[in-house]
Amino acid sequence: MSINCLFCKIINKEISSEVIAENNNVLVIKDISPKAPVHYLIIPKEHTCDIRDLDNISSKDRARELMGDIVLMAQDLSKNKLNNIPFRLISNNGSEVGQSVMHIHFHFLAGKKFLDF
Ligand code: 5GP
Ligand code: ZN
Repeated sequence: MSINCLFCKIINKEISSEVIAENNNVLVIKDISPKAPVHYLIIPKEHTCDIRDLDNISSKDRARELMGDIVLMAQDLSKNKLNNIPFRLISNNGSEVGQSVMHIHFHFLAGKKFLDF
């Protein structure tokens, strides 16, 4: 928990959001400004700024558990909630590459054709 972190406040339900799924490790919400017909944010429930700062997670095993659950949640969203929809899973790590909320998260994007990298 980091005071003044938007996603920590959303995780703690101090700020409301449209929750899609939740377990002990991750919260999935609808992005407030969707860039695709399906645009969810998969947010680990422990605060760290981005992947570069994963050492701030309480232990290596906990980091593995949280990161593993991100991918398993993406699988679950596609397979069980969205009829096996093809999707893109993106994480911005640093403001220079487009990160605007400094709490680690992954964008689950689907429902349109995306440009190649
Ligand atoms: P980033 O730019 O850091 O990779 O992604 C942050 C995302 O959070 C953006 O896509 C933005 O639209 C979304 N976002 C910002 N504030 C809120 C909010 O208060 N609620 C929700 N649900 N999404 C937000
Ligand atoms: Zn946070």
